[in-house]
Amino acid sequence: ELKRVIYKPIYLSEKEIILEFNGSVLYYPEDAPNSKELYEKAYLLLKRIKEREANTIEIFNPLIEREIQSVFYVEELIKRALAEKLFTFYYQPYLNAQNLKIVGFEALVRIKDGDKIIPPSEFIEFLENSIYLKDFESYSFYKNLNKLNEWKIPISINISSTGFESSHILEFLTQYESLLRKLPTYFILEITEHKLAKNLEKVQKILKILRSYNIKIALDDFGTGYSSLNYLKDLPIDIVKIDRSFINLLDDKKTYYIVETIIKLAKQLGIKTVAEGVENEDQMIMLQKLGCDYLQGFFFAPPLPEEEAEKLIKNQPFLKS
Ligand code: C2E
Ligand code: CA
Ligand code: CA
Repeated sequence: ELKRVIYKPIYLSEKEIILEFNGSVLYYPEDAPNSKELYEKAYLLLKRIKEREANTIEIFNPLIEREIQSVFYVEELIKRALAEKLFTFYYQPYLNAQNLKIVGFEALVRIKDGDKIIPPSEFIEFLENSIYLKDFESYSFYKNLNKLNEWKIPISINISSTGFESSHILEFLTQYESLLRKLPTYFILEITEHKLAKNLEKVQKILKILRSYNIKIALDDFGTGYSSLNYLKDLPIDIVKIDRSFINLLDDKKTYYIVETIIKLAKQLGIKTVAEGVENEDQMIMLQKLGCDYLQGFFFAPPLPEEEAEKLIKNQPFLKS
């Protein structure tokens, strides 16, 4: 009945307008004990429906309840992590493929809650689509610029494509200008390829500005997006990180040829290549033969807490003498 009423076309100066609608239905008091919770759940359910399709109405149920509870939980976690500074970074080294010297680190976030270490898989998707992203990325930027100053070795951080769409990344440049101007070596921003598709022109502009500081740009998860090659053509990229799924499958002939081609192409374009997710010696040897520039993966080291990462810089345990 509701649907029929809303669906009725409206006529405005002889144009017919059909409204799109979505609805969420909850029962009081079964689904929520008070108006605040009723509203929040109705809102979250509605948001979920909107993402899927127009013109549907959905009734609250226990399955959705569980999903919504976990969203509540993650949001609380993130708020607390920001307020109590629970975000910490683990550092995974990447090595020069020929002599196996550690030449940089990737910073990977965790939430440290007491002695519990919560991995990004539990919160990063929510964080990237939330109002807390800017505060988090500002913290990541600041924290890791300082680390870079201390360690004097390139550090890369992961930046969500949302940060590019809203241009908040540019604000950090002004905010941290004095730090950026006196870096001992370059800072790297990793952006994930498969989320870039929209608004290439804007991304292009932002990348150009970033590069005028001491910042390099790495294209993360390379090969998993829709238009990998277009990005190489249109964007000022310094590094491509060949996705783990290719490195995993290097003994498959087809995959091997694809990786070979990516490396050759990157070389011709003056772009450095990093192989992600190197897990065994065979993969290392193949990648060395293919002329890949840098290697990263569990075969060498997982992401490590600061103190352990710092030891690696001094000891250079993989370096061939
Ligand atoms: P990513 O940027 O592709 O990071 C690489 C992930 O692969 C890391 O997982 C790392 O632990 C894992 N990895 C490294 N070597 C190997 C290997 O040899 N084998 C396998 N199987 N895995 C390996 P992690 O730390 O759980 O991070 C997962 C994802 O979360 C990252 O993928 C990145 O997309 C996101 N992320 C992490 N930190 C941040 C951050 O500070 N900001 C944003 N926006 N995203 C982040
Ligand atoms: Ca990354
Ligand atoms: Ca990656």
